[in-house]
Amino acid sequence: MFWGVAAVPQVLRRHPGTEGEQGEVRAKMDQIEAEKEKLLAKIAASRARLEALDATSAASSPQARLATALAASPAGAKVASAGKPEEGDEASSRLRMALPLVPLGAFPLISAKESADRSAALLTSTQPPGALQYSVAGWSPPIDSAAYDAMTREFPRALPAKAVFQRSRMFLTQNFGMTPSNTILGTSICPDEINNGKGGFADLANTYWGEYFPLGGLGGLPLVGKTGWGAFSHHCPDDGNIFVMYGPHVGISEVGGIGKFNRVGQNDASSACGAFVGAYKQTMNWSGEREKLDGSDMEQQFIRSELAPFTKGISQTEDPMSALAYKAFDIVDKQMEGILSMDFGPGRLVLLGGIQVNTPVGFPDHFQPMKFEVRQLGKPNKDILYKAFLPSMSTDVAMKDWTSWTPSS
Ligand SMILES: [Zn+2]
Repeated sequence: MFWGVAAVPQVLRRHPGTEGEQGEVRAKMDQIEAEKEKLLAKIAASRARLEALDATSAASSPQARLATALAASPAGAKVASAGKPEEGDEASSRLRMALPLVPLGAFPLISAKESADRSAALLTSTQPPGALQYSVAGWSPPIDSAAYDAMTREFPRALPAKAVFQRSRMFLTQNFGMTPSNTILGTSICPDEINNGKGGFADLANTYWGEYFPLGGLGGLPLVGKTGWGAFSHHCPDDGNIFVMYGPHVGISEVGGIGKFNRVGQNDASSACGAFVGAYKQTMNWSGEREKLDGSDMEQQFIRSELAPFTKGISQTEDPMSALAYKAFDIVDKQMEGILSMDFGPGRLVLLGGIQVNTPVGFPDHFQPMKFEVRQLGKPNKDILYKAFLPSMSTDVAMKDWTSWTPSS
């Protein structure tokens, strides 16, 4: 059965329950989670009250009671010997904090929850781009939707933001010992509100890595320049590392339109990225002369001046909005390489550049990694893109190289 673009809204109407059902299940899970938290807090509170009343409890420390309790439970012993809790795993940390106060019967439940969480994260974060599991988990649009078709066709290496975050975090921590305490994060993404939603790519990274320095202007261009880079890089912890995530963004509408996005509260889809799509339209009849920057609209003028020589070539491609997104990455990457320097210290500089794909509302952002590199003074640059992100990609898809792409004359 062929679904043309015009047929898609009817198709979506025929399955009105899918998104609602997913939302309902998620809401129910949240409710259970909240109730459990409340229960744990209640147990903790009554235990604390009892202990305050019981004069004899002063003789045995909470640590000693915990050790006794753990030894008495096989599941608990496993928890106790699991060692340092995984950083960033807030739910697990909270549960561990509550352990001394939880009745013994709860240990197997906590242990089961922990291993379920861990295997879910691992399963979903190691699936290849476009995998069915991402759609089933509600991280990607359903595989029978127009948005899924458009995304996998034009951005075949895009992964859900959560998977990109998890893979980059695990890779950097396991291979280079990078943690929030020895690393500063810099981001260069377009200020558009659709890039800054909760659970999105930027939000996940900012929340985990902690301190971060926004370098980005319109279109994700690091327009703070060399001065901004200097300030940012010298805020890195002593002998510590810098992690920079950057790139342009491109919207996908519910009917699979590239460069378009259905914003909350608006009936019609609008451009995303508005700055790059705007510059593309504004330079359609380019005179061939580089635009002068007069200070009235610096960032957009800069984008136009960088994009103009390529506009004609882009307009002749099969899907200009897709080609524009790839060219936008090229421009953002060139600007990033132009401002960065390694004079911040002996630590590592990690660059994670790519194209942020804004999938329709209700589905977390996606990100197509284009560059993942580790640099360190006196050592050759290390390309870790394929190791970290593309374990099961076919070579010809993975090797499609847009960075050296030039417009047709
Ligand atoms: Zn934008």
